[in-house]
Amino acid sequence: MSNQVQEQTLWGHPKGLYILFFTELWERFSYYGMRAILILYLTAKTTESNAGLGWDKVSALELYGWYTFFVYVLSVPGGLLADRLLGQKKTVMLGGFLLVAGHLILAFDTITAFYSGLVLIVLGVGALKPNISTMVGGLYNKGDVKRDTAFTIFYIGINIGAFAAPILVGYVGEVINWHYGFGLAGIGMTIGQIVYIWGQKYLKEIGNFVPVIKDAHTNKKVKLTTVEKDRMIVLILSFVIVIVFWGAYEQAGGLMNLYARDKIDRVMFGFTVPTSFLQALHAFYVILFGVPVAYFWTRWRKKGKESSSLFKMGIGTIITGLGFLLLARAAIETTVSLDGKASIYWMFGAYLLHVIGELSISPVALSFITKLAPIKYASLMMGTYFMVSGIGNKIAGLVGEAAQNAGEYTIFMGVLIFCVSFGLLLIVFVKKLKKLTHGADDVETKIVMVEAE
Ligand code: GLN
Repeated sequence: MSNQVQEQTLWGHPKGLYILFFTELWERFSYYGMRAILILYLTAKTTESNAGLGWDKVSALELYGWYTFFVYVLSVPGGLLADRLLGQKKTVMLGGFLLVAGHLILAFDTITAFYSGLVLIVLGVGALKPNISTMVGGLYNKGDVKRDTAFTIFYIGINIGAFAAPILVGYVGEVINWHYGFGLAGIGMTIGQIVYIWGQKYLKEIGNFVPVIKDAHTNKKVKLTTVEKDRMIVLILSFVIVIVFWGAYEQAGGLMNLYARDKIDRVMFGFTVPTSFLQALHAFYVILFGVPVAYFWTRWRKKGKESSSLFKMGIGTIITGLGFLLLARAAIETTVSLDGKASIYWMFGAYLLHVIGELSISPVALSFITKLAPIKYASLMMGTYFMVSGIGNKIAGLVGEAAQNAGEYTIFMGVLIFCVSFGLLLIVFVKKLKKLTHGADDVETKIVMVEAE
């Protein structure tokens, strides 16, 4: 993709990257802030001074699962809207406005406001999230070594928002008033939208609508080449990994959020850690370990070892699974301890392993998509990626619901065994799958190595 934006650089990257970085940072602040208190708000009693909706856990987990599912499923129409009609830049703008409205409406304490807020957020994330990610890839020419670094930077931005949100929105919502918390998330999104509007001058060359080239004779879409087809196949297969990974990882906002509230001793140094604070832990670890993990994989490849994107994803799934071993250990502790609670340190350890797994999967997958997808399907494939992560979120919700009957120990052990076996299976087939990429994954990594030397 050619562009002139790269001429306006800051710290070696197009200035547009920083606009997308801050817009997405604030969007994620609003998303994760609201999400951190959603299940707590739903299950808080109506008689409490900070009254919630008084739902039982199963219904709350069910709504939570559907919400996080639809938030990402709507990325497919969001991607299509960009590819076919508006272009990514305008679709992100539209999504931003929907999100500002959706989050601010939740500040009102009525059930109509609650449901309309959820619907607007679902539509807004669908329009914004896949397209802003594709725009990051669009800032770089094919084969540009800075693309992978850009995705790591962008991912860290996401997590700065995700880190601050549960602490600030969580504190205001849980300790003061749920609706002030939701309102704060709305203020965050408003800041993001202002940054995006202001930064349009740095985004002139990217995210514009590109009409699909049609065959002059048949007036249909030009067909995919065999190489493009193979790459699409491997992309679609990689989406299965995405489902398994997010299905395990996203227990965090639902089951593990309730687990932390009810069965974890959250007193540390005489201070009770609010449940929602634990929701910030993943993001904190991403900020801390984002660069070291990326560096580890570069070194690994330099040693001549297998480090294709698919291999990294396999290892990531195994490490994530191992996090559940620590949670299973915590579940045993709750049955033997006097107060029925387990140490918070199990949670710290489990989330650490989940994040090391995430860093070998999530930013890797974003970059992988922009390398493999044919340009005319770029936003759609990115949208599909988020949709399948939404399926993972829904599965996480179902697993959480199942835990209410099966018990946490059984569930944690089940997730452990499933993730480890799946990751191992992937590693066995990695060489075969890699052939289908026709080198799209290797080229840039080789150039990265040259630069790193
Ligand atoms: N944590 C990442 C984000 O919020 C990944 C989300 C996803 O792929 N489901 O952007």
